[in-house]
Amino acid sequence: MSQQYPENSWVHLDRSHVWHPFTQEATAPPPIPIASARGAWLHTTDGRKIMDLISSWWLCVHGHAHPVIAAAIAQQARQLEQVIFAGFTHEPAVRLAQRLTDRLPPGLSRVFFSDNGSTAVEVALKMAIQYHRNLGTPRNRIAVLQGGYHGDTVGAMSVGRSSGFFEPFTDYLFRVDTIPFPETWEGDDQVENREETALAALDRLLSQHGQELAAIILEPLVQGASGMRMCRPMFLQKLSQRIHQAGGLLIFDEVMTGFGRTGTLFACEKGGIIPDIICLSKGLTGGFMPMAVTVCQQKIHDAFLGDTFDRALAHGHSFTANPLGCAAALASLDLFASGEPLQNCARLETIHRQRLQGLITHPRVTKPRCTGVIAALNVANPGSSGYSAAIGPKLKQFFLDRGLLIRPLGEVIYLLPPYCLTDEELHTAWDAIHEALDTVT
Ligand SMILES: *Cc1c(COP(=O)(O)O)cnc(C)c1O
Repeated sequence: MSQQYPENSWVHLDRSHVWHPFTQEATAPPPIPIASARGAWLHTTDGRKIMDLISSWWLCVHGHAHPVIAAAIAQQARQLEQVIFAGFTHEPAVRLAQRLTDRLPPGLSRVFFSDNGSTAVEVALKMAIQYHRNLGTPRNRIAVLQGGYHGDTVGAMSVGRSSGFFEPFTDYLFRVDTIPFPETWEGDDQVENREETALAALDRLLSQHGQELAAIILEPLVQGASGMRMCRPMFLQKLSQRIHQAGGLLIFDEVMTGFGRTGTLFACEKGGIIPDIICLSKGLTGGFMPMAVTVCQQKIHDAFLGDTFDRALAHGHSFTANPLGCAAALASLDLFASGEPLQNCARLETIHRQRLQGLITHPRVTKPRCTGVIAALNVANPGSSGYSAAIGPKLKQFFLDRGLLIRPLGEVIYLLPPYCLTDEELHTAWDAIHEALDTVT
């Protein structure tokens, strides 16, 4: 934190009292104090503006501080801020559940509320395991895709163990069966081979242990945290057929891909795939409130019915179905209903594709790729690679110096902007990426 802040400023207290997420505090530059935000822009306390090109960790789909959502939360706060959700209910939760199930693929009709992406995943896993147990045919294996990330709680870490973030905890994580992820990119001519390898691994697992497989959990179309790695809808269709044939449940973690990121409201729509369970969070409230849902097929819900509590799902959080979160999510869905956000996604995707095309022959670019508003590329020969690649922090600083929040995942540069971003603003970001590729080493 530089001299510009007065000695008694709250900004200095950050370093003595706050512990930041995913941060090595000994080496990270001081955090940037933000006073307010609007649309695609963050406003620092010292009067600078920063363009938020990652939607503040993939949250604010409509941009920051959208007045419609802000007003909905304020109004709800004056009426009902919170109420216990066991034995009680309230209109915002019921309306939200109904609107989500109307918009999701057929059969996804029961909504379980929680607080964040990780808890949505924990709920999905517990639903899947107890579902089979309640049917009288317990199954004890969970399959995942290589590189999948599903959050930072212990169950979510277990299914995301191959993402590489959780080394200190591996002894405490439950075992999973890992299937290769057939990532692909523009101009890739090996994708069929990779998909065949992945499906062959799945077939081997199912022939040996098909009866024991409770579920597979995966991020459809785009693996976020492991570097915006993309696969084809066709692969997911083939995978889902096999899982269903084996009697396993298909869990889609759409915590990041949900609410327009891939160009459709949900990624599962792209392949016409109907998961048994879907996890949503991040964009659910337009990025305003910590809230998540785990939505399941009716048959899963029904398997928990019975005369005794031991058949019920013994899970709940203090803030389950928080009315302020529900109000924000309803307002966000109203915005989506106008059609404008998804039109904006298409507009941004067109620019992404143009600009990626212009970089395809750049000597430092590999694996250029785009799905919806998510565009990514790898910087070739970064020295070290992976999340802790040395080039990452240098690139981040380069972009920040130009007033751009772009936060590479190791050697992967990606954009995941809020949908209100203008064409001109997006071009500015791509110009900076071009410049970084030419100059940052
Ligand atoms: C971010 C993320 C999570 C975890 O969500 P939190 O709200 O950070 O707990 C889970 N799954 C995916 C795909 C994510 O991108």
